[in-house]
Amino acid sequence: MPPLRAPLRIDGAELRLVRLPLVTPFTISTGTMTEKVFPLLILKSGGLEGYAEGVMDPLPDYLEETTAGAMALLRDTLLPQVMGHSFAHPQALARALSPWRANFMARATLEMAFWDLWAKSLGLPLQTVLGGEGGAIDVGVSLGIAPIPTTLDRIAQHLDQGYQRIKLKVKPGHDLALLRAAREAFPQAHLTVDANCCYSLADSALIARMDAFDLDYIEQPLAWDDIHDHATLQTRIATPICLDESIRTPDHARKALQTGAARVMNIKVGRVGGHTAARAIHDLCEAFAVPVWCGGMLESGVGRAHNIHLSTLPGFTKPGDTSSASRYFTRDIIEQRLETVAGRMPVPPGPGIGVTLDLDTLKTATLSHAEILP
Ligand SMILES: [Mg+2]
Repeated sequence: MPPLRAPLRIDGAELRLVRLPLVTPFTISTGTMTEKVFPLLILKSGGLEGYAEGVMDPLPDYLEETTAGAMALLRDTLLPQVMGHSFAHPQALARALSPWRANFMARATLEMAFWDLWAKSLGLPLQTVLGGEGGAIDVGVSLGIAPIPTTLDRIAQHLDQGYQRIKLKVKPGHDLALLRAAREAFPQAHLTVDANCCYSLADSALIARMDAFDLDYIEQPLAWDDIHDHATLQTRIATPICLDESIRTPDHARKALQTGAARVMNIKVGRVGGHTAARAIHDLCEAFAVPVWCGGMLESGVGRAHNIHLSTLPGFTKPGDTSSASRYFTRDIIEQRLETVAGRMPVPPGPGIGVTLDLDTLKTATLSHAEILP
């Protein structure tokens, strides 16, 4: 058990809007990203700093939150609410934010930065205060939509690098032929697909044809705000359904587990309001013997480090999306290089998330900068 300590006071914060170009454009069923634009929060207490980033997109094309909306909510409401206040534990801060409706990504940005600050105040790695252990995690990759020959080349390249699972983004018209080619070329590979909500129940017969390709699971085939239709779909297909977008709270997770809408769960800490809710969802899934893994949102090193620490909890038994940062960025905003070794991502050692900001790169990448004081 971590040592008991006095409540931790939030003395100040820096909220930055940061832009990093992507090495390769990333295409999924809802569109293409060429750069990553995100809020970066630096939370301060005494001489310590806690870091987190928001995972919302500029436009509401993954979930309903937007970067501009989250920046305004953080700057004008959430940060002033906690500024100058002390919290006995990160869960107490999460509770203080709980009356607000939804906006889980904005709340997660603040909650996660406080977890980092809290762990640093105890001199412990974040994984230790979360209840995880181990020096490395298993990782897979998520490959965006591209012509089939390009995708086959990318699969071969990433299997050679040791990645333990290949997730293929699909959309109507770019699904069965892709899977047929991938399975034929790589009969032993752990393959999954992610539809990012692009099908409906009317596509049940098409989705059932994916059973022939021995996928580990199919991720979020139906609507982002649905649970019920996924439960119905699961009765029509053999491939396990994994939910991502549909799970924003522990209560969503409970309903999905109780109705059989999810046999696998993708936990993104930035999507569910922070580590407090992520742990609760992890625990619920363990109770239902449903395996979980940690998804990615093309995070910079700050969010990537949070994901790695969370992934050391015992229920994360499937490889996550937390692949090498160099797949996404030529220069990251942290000094450490978060790179996989033979399909395993080392946990950054040291207090908190274990990474430090590269202030030169951060300065160049910063679009706006605000100081928030008590
Ligand atoms: Mg997904």
